[in-house]
Order: sequence, then C-alpha cells, then structure tokens
Amino acid sequence: KVRHWSRPQPFQAEVTENDLKLVEEDISEDLQPGEVLLESVYLTVDPYMRVHGEPMGEHKTMFGEACLKVIRTRNGEFPLGTLALAFSGWRTHYLSKDGKDLRPIPFDLDSLSPSVTLGVLGMPGLTAYFGFRLLEPKAGEVCVVNGAAGAVGSIVGQLAKHKGLTVIGFAGSDEKCQWLTKELKFDYAFNYKKISLDDALKTAAPKGVDVFFDNVGGEFFHQMVTKHMARGGRISICGSISNYNDTEKQKFPQINMDILMNQLTIRGFNILTFAKEFQTAWNEMIPLVKAGELKFKETVFDGFDKMPNAFVGLFKGENTGKAIVKASNY
Ligand code: NDP
Repeated sequence: KVRHWSRPQPFQAEVTENDLKLVEEDISEDLQPGEVLLESVYLTVDPYMRVHGEPMGEHKTMFGEACLKVIRTRNGEFPLGTLALAFSGWRTHYLSKDGKDLRPIPFDLDSLSPSVTLGVLGMPGLTAYFGFRLLEPKAGEVCVVNGAAGAVGSIVGQLAKHKGLTVIGFAGSDEKCQWLTKELKFDYAFNYKKISLDDALKTAAPKGVDVFFDNVGGEFFHQMVTKHMARGGRISICGSISNYNDTEKQKFPQINMDILMNQLTIRGFNILTFAKEFQTAWNEMIPLVKAGELKFKETVFDGFDKMPNAFVGLFKGENTGKAIVKASNY
C-alpha cells in the first residue's frame, strides 16, 4: 500500500491541515526490467508549496522532493538500499519506471544525515548561496535578512558573517533570536513581533542597510525600501511568505521614487535557474558544513502522517531551521 497526501482543491486563504487528504493506493511489487521501487525516508515541506508546484497525477498528490531508499529493484544503477533524490511528491513509496527521474546523492554524506540533501545542502541552502551572491556583498557592509531563523535565512546570515558583513536578522520568537546571535553569531537579531523595524534599525543600522535578503515581502519589504536602504543598496527578492495566504494582492503606495533616489538594485530569482552551478556552491559549502563552520538546525516531524502539520507550521513559525518529515528509517 502506498499512502500519499492529496490536495483535492486549490488552497484557499489560510492553509490548514484539513486542506489535505490521506489517500491509499495499491501498487504491484512485481517489477518490470529497469523499474525501481523506493520508500521515502525524508520528505521536505517548503513555503512554495502553498503557491506553486502543481499537484501530481489523478489523486492530486502534493508536489515535492524527497530522499528515498531503494527497497526493490530491477535496475543495476540503483541497487537495493541505495539512497536517491526525486521530485516524487508527498508519498510513502514511489515507483520509478527507468531510474531516469532519480538522482543519486550528489556528494559524500560522511557522518551527515541524508536529510541535509533537502536542507542546508539541498534546495534551501543553495537558495541562500545564490540569492546572497546576487547581492554582490562586500566585507564591511550591513546585511538584513528576515525569516532569519528559517532554512534559507539562517544560512544567508552565516554566509554574510563569513564574508565579513554586519548581519542583522529578524525572526518571530526570542528563542529563535537567541539561536541566531549565540550560535550563528549574527551581530543582531530582533523579534519582529515585539519591536518595529524602525526601532530595531535605529541602533543596528544607523547609516542604512547595504544588502537586504527578503524572504518575507509585504510590509517588511515596503518599509525597508522606503526608509532603511543605504544609497546604492541591493535587494534579493527570495520569497514573500507574508503574502502566501493572501487572497488578494496587497496594494502599497508608490516606491519608485525611493528606488530611484537611493539608486537601489532589486533582483528576484528562482533557484532552479542556477542548477548548472550547484557544484560551485557545494564545493564551498560542504567543507564548511562538515567542519561545523556553517551550522544548521532541522525541525524534524516524526512520521509521514505529520506532513500536513509540518507544512501548516511553516506559516505559523513552528520550525527553526529546515522543516523535515522523517517517514522511515534508513
Ligand atoms: P522557513 O524555513 O524560513 O519557514 C518559514 C518561516 O517563515 C517560518 O518559520 C516563520 O518564521 C516565517 N514566517 C511565516 N509567516 C510569516 C509572516 N507572515 N511574516 C514573517 N515571517 C513569517 O522557509 P524557507 O527558508 O524554506 O523559505 C524562506 C523563503 O524563501 C520563503 O519565502 C520561500 O518561499 C523562499 N524560497 C524561495 C526560493 C527561490 O528560488 N526564490 C527557493 C526556496 C525558498 P518566524 O518565526 O520568523 O515568523
């Protein structure tokens, strides 16, 4: 029996666990030549799943990446027990027809958990790397990152520290902020639910912000552009999670003159466009992760049944670092 999480209707307004349904389906264990049957070990929940990633197949299975193990095989390239990555969706088992949709783990894990392939060394970590690089950061500059205790933000801040910038993070709880300053060595971390951006940046960035990595969008972005960017400042638009549950586009007053007067550069990006360069990022990041110089945290939800809880939790700030679901043992 394969179980998968289905999204029968498009999400409406605030996403809840009830938007997702568990579906069961039989699959044959008699494989044809070339076929590989895998079981999901780790699955990822990511904010983008709220707004894009079309559901898969007749059951409208939620789209997403997983790290899976081979449990039956008639394909020499994927022997029993091998781990592989695939965009197989939110399901316990996955049948690959020819292995072409499977990717071997692209680096030696050594003592790292396979879950890093979905976190610090997977899509979110790569997003941090390339989105930060777009900012053309220089030592001595001031960097602001929001969603700072999340999968992407926590890596952005550390990359910025490594490069010699002053790093200011914004996150949604005091515990998260403590983790950012004590463990990840951010220069400042503010709980945006308790302090206004104006008050926080009055002390932390009196001369303005040179580079801003935006995961949140909305009001935060608007305030940064209109009040806090330094002349010649650069902004990476990574995400806009504060708007993902909105049913209507928010309207903000004109910001064009602020962009013009301060000669700002604002760049949106999609991590998939950097696929050819992932190896460059891994060459730099893997040694740092293995040496403990690039730290990461995972909030692991135990059991495939927890996928909706893990997903909905993203919009309530329940995760610190990468939200991961552990569906089986490896
Ligand atoms: P996170 O691990 O950061 O999880 C989401 C976090 O966002 C929550 O923990 C919560 O933390 C914060 N959050 C939720 N709702 C709000 C809100 N209304 N206002 C402010 N903060 C909120 O997710 P990721 O690191 O995986 O993703 C971060 C961003 O990057 C997202 O916007 C995502 O869509 C984007 N992204 C973009 C990619 C690209 O190619 N451009 C690729 C990957 C991700 P808190 O407690 O601080 O509120």
